[in-house]
Amino acid sequence: MIIGFTVIERHSNSPTMNVVEDIRRLGFRRWYERQLVEGFAYMVTAFLALIVLLAGYESLAQLRGSPFFYLAIFVAAAAAGVLTLVAFRRFTVLLSRAEQFANDAECPQCKTWGRFEILSTEAVGEDEPVETGRPHWLRVRCRKCQQAWRLG
Ligand SMILES: [Zn+2]
Repeated sequence: MIIGFTVIERHSNSPTMNVVEDIRRLGFRRWYERQLVEGFAYMVTAFLALIVLLAGYESLAQLRGSPFFYLAIFVAAAAAGVLTLVAFRRFTVLLSRAEQFANDAECPQCKTWGRFEILSTEAVGEDEPVETGRPHWLRVRCRKCQQAWRLG
């Protein structure tokens, strides 16, 4: 459970949530790689939380008769359940957006993949959770031939 929470906190508090800033800093190709890694980290978190959840129910049976422990285990299992859902949701949102941007990342004119600068983007709130998947679109310009198009 500790491992799971660490992964979630590190990602939700880090600037990695700011897609536009990240793509500008890293370039689209490296950003895309990172999305895959980050998505995988969420999937692992979801899996670990699920194990904790099941372990919690297991313990529940053994601790019957002690109301305090019963409650503590129940709360832990519920938290793990929520964490599983949140982490899994992030995993799917991150990966589906990364995939969509990757599919559109080819310049329609010169066919160069993933080499562009961002012109504009859907607005994203400062503390908007990852689950919203924003920004849903980016307006970009090819670094090679200056053609502009839209991702997402
Ligand atoms: Zn181009």
